[in-house]
Amino acid sequence: MFEKVLIANRGEIALRILRACKELGIATVAVHSTADSNAMHVRLADESVCIGPPAARDSYLNIPSLLAACEITGADAVHPGYGFLSENARFAEILDAHDITFIGPTAQHIRVMGDKIAAKQTVSALGVPVVPGSDGAIESEKQAYACAAEIGYPVLVKAAAGGGGRGMKVALSEDELLNAMQTARAEASAAFGDDSLYMEKYLGKPRHIEVQVFGDGRGNAIHLGERDCSLQRRHQKVWEEAPSPGLNAADRKRIGDTVATAMADLGYRGAGTIEFLYEDGEFYFIEMNTRLQVEHPVTEMITGIDLVHEQLRVAAGASLSVKQEDISFHGHAIECRINAENPRTFAPSPGRINYYHPPGGLGIRVDSGVYQGYSIPPYYDSLIGKLIVHGKNRNECLMRLRRALSEFVIDGIQTTIPLFSELVNNADIVDGRYDIHWLESYLAGTSDD
Ligand code: ADP
Repeated sequence: MFEKVLIANRGEIALRILRACKELGIATVAVHSTADSNAMHVRLADESVCIGPPAARDSYLNIPSLLAACEITGADAVHPGYGFLSENARFAEILDAHDITFIGPTAQHIRVMGDKIAAKQTVSALGVPVVPGSDGAIESEKQAYACAAEIGYPVLVKAAAGGGGRGMKVALSEDELLNAMQTARAEASAAFGDDSLYMEKYLGKPRHIEVQVFGDGRGNAIHLGERDCSLQRRHQKVWEEAPSPGLNAADRKRIGDTVATAMADLGYRGAGTIEFLYEDGEFYFIEMNTRLQVEHPVTEMITGIDLVHEQLRVAAGASLSVKQEDISFHGHAIECRINAENPRTFAPSPGRINYYHPPGGLGIRVDSGVYQGYSIPPYYDSLIGKLIVHGKNRNECLMRLRRALSEFVIDGIQTTIPLFSELVNNADIVDGRYDIHWLESYLAGTSDD
């Protein structure tokens, strides 16, 4: 096992990884920007190194600084968390060249899955069902019109390098196609420096269902069931749960077995998530994330498996601690993303937390890096914590979530907690009747309240 792990991240996920390392007796190094000197991950780590000024490109994305921090502290591995450099193949290669282990998949797998066109082609060849669409990149207007006519409107134009819901535009009819292509291309070029586009059938009322997978890099892979992340705003997840209230046992097994076999054939190493849209009993692959996800705790709650422990084990060359037949699912878990944002407009709300009281009790987990008196810097993502609730079934989970939300106090800034208090009492949510468009329509209908 590793002796010392450097955590190339901040916030709740840095803390999450730090906790797993502590449990396994591994020393930890926190890195931080000058804006994060007072962050909890810095306080709790065995050592910490300041890696640059507030802007992420000068600190958390600064590879030379991170390498220097590894050298200074003698860290033998780096955990990238999610976001930042977690899906940067070059970073994985550079660490490798310096004999430092990147806790994640091979650079080659990161690269293939980071290009959504290549990812679709790769998993499709491994027997995973994909969304109907263009075979590869769309090179010309003529090709775009021909492809859209073949798959049928509405269509979705997407960026090959896409992420975070950017570079994605719907065309309801032929009239809208050119405009959608131009907007998506401009957005993709600005956000990713790569304007390659592809096209997919736009599904009208799917659920977003993703499967957690784990491979040992030696041809063994398992799946840990699904998470339903259909409640989204601007293609960003807001609430995630497991198991999905919209999936039956036969479909669950079918998709789990399909992806586990595909990942075994690929020789995948580490944690990964295969994302699907699910409509009328059919799964359609949209992308694979080659890292730990924000919403991984819901899977941990229903399987009892610590995903970060597994990541550390596999990266250190050990085999997975469990086999597929050892995995069983218990009860139901829901995660609410607590963002420092206005709960209606979602405008960021950084600032000082004057009073902080997290909920507790049976079945409650709060993954967060904030504390009373902490000032949330304005430079980073607005996610400040996650409330994860477990119950023996969905009903108990909802009851407990209502209670937990009513206890949660974060004063001084605005948060998304009031939105969750509404959602947990909404009849559609209580019945599990929602698709990927539900939250946007709900917010549009209540925005004047
Ligand atoms: P990103 O990497 O930017 O997050 P994804 O491909 O994962 O992009 O898609 C994000 C979200 O966009 C999905 O969860 C879904 O809500 C929506 N989406 C993506 N592809 C389609 C599609 N073909 N039809 C309808 N909605 C889609």
